[in-house]
Amino acid sequence: MTTNDVQIAIIGAGFSGLGAAIKLTQNGFDDFVILDRGTDFGGTWRDNTYPGAACDVPSRLYSYSFAQNPSWSRTYSHQPEIHRYINGVADRYAIGEKTRWRTEVTQARWDEATRQWTLDTERDGVTTQVRARFLVGAVGPLCEPNLPDIEGFDTFGGTIVHSARWDNDNDYTGKRVAVIGTGASAIQVVPELAKTVAHLDVYQRTAPWIVPRTERAYSGAEKWAFAKVPGFQNAMRGVVYGLNEATAFGLTYSPSALKPVELICRGNIARSIRSAELRTKVTPSFQVGCKRILRSNDWYPAIARRNVDLITDPIASISPTGIVTSDGVTHDVDVIVVATGFHVTDSPVFDKIIGVDGRSLAGVWDEIGMQGYKGSFINGFPNMMLMVGPSTGLGHTSMVYMIESQLNYLVDFVKTARAQDLTRVEVRLDAQRAYNADIQHEMRNSVWVNGGCASWYADKHGNITTLWPGFTFNFRKITRRFDIAAYDVLRRTTSSTPATTAQATETVSVTA
Ligand code: NAP
Repeated sequence: MTTNDVQIAIIGAGFSGLGAAIKLTQNGFDDFVILDRGTDFGGTWRDNTYPGAACDVPSRLYSYSFAQNPSWSRTYSHQPEIHRYINGVADRYAIGEKTRWRTEVTQARWDEATRQWTLDTERDGVTTQVRARFLVGAVGPLCEPNLPDIEGFDTFGGTIVHSARWDNDNDYTGKRVAVIGTGASAIQVVPELAKTVAHLDVYQRTAPWIVPRTERAYSGAEKWAFAKVPGFQNAMRGVVYGLNEATAFGLTYSPSALKPVELICRGNIARSIRSAELRTKVTPSFQVGCKRILRSNDWYPAIARRNVDLITDPIASISPTGIVTSDGVTHDVDVIVVATGFHVTDSPVFDKIIGVDGRSLAGVWDEIGMQGYKGSFINGFPNMMLMVGPSTGLGHTSMVYMIESQLNYLVDFVKTARAQDLTRVEVRLDAQRAYNADIQHEMRNSVWVNGGCASWYADKHGNITTLWPGFTFNFRKITRRFDIAAYDVLRRTTSSTPATTAQATETVSVTA
């Protein structure tokens, strides 16, 4: 088996993995490799190709600040354009040549003896090992499709497709189709399917709150101004950022301040649906913001169509011919689309990361909940930084802002490690505990805790461990510098005075 040694291994070539590669390169760190199971950049924006896939964060904000795009065609971008943008940025910084495609990381193990991570990778049936001094886990929280645990799921005789694994060679025109789920993906794919299928059954377990989508094409003059007028693009990005941040206040500290948003959502229903019965069915029973607030102009018109039925009877099982609801009726279909989300707090990826004492990330988080420090480091997993880790998700603005904050932290971490010749860096358990206690305290009045819904924002312990509470500029502030005092570190060479009492020094020889 071949073994390659690098300083830094990055798993994942989505927004965060690519961003990490660019920032490391810009700061003089060239000895890294990106490993990705796909064939090009984009991560979730490469994988989600279902009809209608689009972003519900405005285009102006949904790009790297250092590689803004004056040419976005619309105020909200669609998947193909975002996918092209990400690959264009990768080309500009020549990151493709540092990336191994079709390469699946089957396990990543911390080796205490050498102070390195060993990654087992597989490509076309060939196993290779990569040894790295530092590991950056940039796999993204929305990468592992969640298939619903419904009796008889495997017995269905037709086609089952998950929204995140769309097969664009299959044409569902004229077919009888069922969609399970009414989340962010479902509300985008249903209006597109409804246009061409013979009949569509939409299975709703929980109705979402939906605001109108104020999407339009940018004019040529606007695009010219974004490209040519100094400061205009940054200013507009700032305006969008500021407006979105206002929502963070309501979500985290004062859910009653979101009442106007609820009124807009109710107006959206009243305007779009005539039938009183259907209006009742689509009106949520939890506080707006408890689950992601969705954006659509065509969801309600789609489910009001003649060829579409919104089914709210719970699903009892799946038979070889269709879906059986709790009233005993079998709804026969040719195709079942499962738009049932992702394994976020229970991703299978967590089983593959093995830290100190052979403990997997899944095992550690099973015990203590999905905790980390600044969304980045986890006690028990030295020299590893997660991108979009615990408590970094958002319900109100662009994840790219959070990713760039983490990139600042990553670069300062790597610079510190190089300057101080650190061989082992592990966040202290007390620092991690205190950080998570603060996060949960900050969450206490939030709509996610008190809004009366069940969501994937909570881990199995019932804590909201996927979301960042409050304003994103506070996260930017705490990730500006690598705060070594929160870490236990070991150095390659002995030194007379450790930087903090928690730090130790030693002499170890590492192939790095
Ligand atoms: P999701 O928001 O988690 O929605 C999953 C849907 O499936 C929910 O309606 C859920 O119902 C339903 N469901 C799950 N298991 C079920 C079962 N066993 N039986 C019946 N219904 C079931 O997943 P998603 O729509 O894929 O979106 C996930 C995340 O991806 C979003 O929150 C967002 O962050 C991101 N996303 C973003 C965009 C964008 O525009 N930027 C677009 C798509 C996705 P319950 O609500 O009752 O659980």
